[in-house]
Amino acid sequence: MENVRDSLFYEPKNGYDRVDTEERLKIEDYCREYMDFLNTARTEREAVRYAIDKAEEHGFRPYRAGETLKAGDRIYRCNRGKALMLAVVGTEPLDHGSVIAGAHVDSPRLDLKQIPLYEQDELCYFRTHYYGGIKKYQWVAIPLELHGVVSLRNGETVDVCIGRDPKDPKFVITDLLPHLAADQMKKTMAEGITGEGLNLLIGSTPYADDGKDRVKLAVMSMLNDAYGITEEDFLSAELTAVPAFDVCEIGVDRSMIGGYGHDDRVCAWAELRAIFDLEMPRRTCVCILADKEEIGSEGVSGMQSAAFDCFMEDLCASQGVALRRCLENSFCLSADVTAAFDPLYPEVSEKRSESKFNYGMAICKYTGARGKSSTSDASAELVGYLRGLFDREKVLWQMAEMGKVDQGGGGTIAKYMANRNIDTIDAGVPVLSMHAPFEIVAKLDCYMTYKGILAAYRD
Ligand code: MN
Ligand code: MN
Repeated sequence: MENVRDSLFYEPKNGYDRVDTEERLKIEDYCREYMDFLNTARTEREAVRYAIDKAEEHGFRPYRAGETLKAGDRIYRCNRGKALMLAVVGTEPLDHGSVIAGAHVDSPRLDLKQIPLYEQDELCYFRTHYYGGIKKYQWVAIPLELHGVVSLRNGETVDVCIGRDPKDPKFVITDLLPHLAADQMKKTMAEGITGEGLNLLIGSTPYADDGKDRVKLAVMSMLNDAYGITEEDFLSAELTAVPAFDVCEIGVDRSMIGGYGHDDRVCAWAELRAIFDLEMPRRTCVCILADKEEIGSEGVSGMQSAAFDCFMEDLCASQGVALRRCLENSFCLSADVTAAFDPLYPEVSEKRSESKFNYGMAICKYTGARGKSSTSDASAELVGYLRGLFDREKVLWQMAEMGKVDQGGGGTIAKYMANRNIDTIDAGVPVLSMHAPFEIVAKLDCYMTYKGILAAYRD
């Protein structure tokens, strides 16, 4: 009877029952590198910069249209400092298709408004406009850092980073003390903290004169000393407040990683590490780090932008191949995180279909919300292909859905890739507390996502 049961039923197993000591060590080594990336890269610009530095160490060089390419060439193109595409040229021509892995490097955060600076009752603040889907109450009373750029009238760009260095000051959005919060506590969690209420406390000492807005003047004067900027320069700035928590191991067994921005830098790193490890792939392998996924993949640096098509067209042109032939034969892993089953909130999930920590890379045949709306829904054949590949390459993986049927769902870059006539499927790392200032992933799943992407690249 047991044999019949084993051969007919599908019973997923915990990943730790399926990896040996050697692989456990690989998981640790892999995650150590990832933690450094996540700790350093707090914005899409910083992630792209970090990726380029590492890519150059691994033999990648910038690619310009018209350059000839040969198998094994390692190239990249940076899209306006916010998105990145890398490729390792395969031995087969591009009309056989390419293998693409696409992740995003933007994460939910608090962007400064264009006229952000003000003083109220002798305290100085920055006004913000949040970016991406956040639960606003999670962003008050935690330490925040300020990252970004200020573009000056003369065309120069000034980099700003305050708070990452342990010696730096940090910022905070204050919350009401419980003693005075009787009315606030009666509000819903969506209304308790408002968007216009997310203002960063940035100073309290007055400038030594007797005019008005003396604290604001003191703050502006220090910013002017440090960065050479005036208040008007905020008009052309992209400054953002992100959580100031350091990335760290979680749990007595250190089996998990806590940090800001796992979504989706955990998959971005998996792709990068995988493409760095390639030598001479059969098909050309492409790694995408996209921007703007959290607000719908819009804009010139998002996945709906023609920047990707332009890059691929340049590669195809170097081999006299039509772009549309390449795309129709290509395969794309839309590498993005998914919601892990959370035993503290079982009511939102249908347990059998939800991804779980330590069960490996999570494949989402479809994402979407309420009736699969807005998903590209990968074909059975594509899932079948991955099952075969991952079994052969010993990649631990699981099938995943985002919450109960009428509860939720989500979007990724998958549909924008599929719309280009590319066979696309979502796959990535399960996350707890997704979109919170401090998200959690399991180390085993991070490593298996890397292993899965590498297997696809090498196939
Ligand atoms: Mn994501
Ligand atoms: Mn997200």
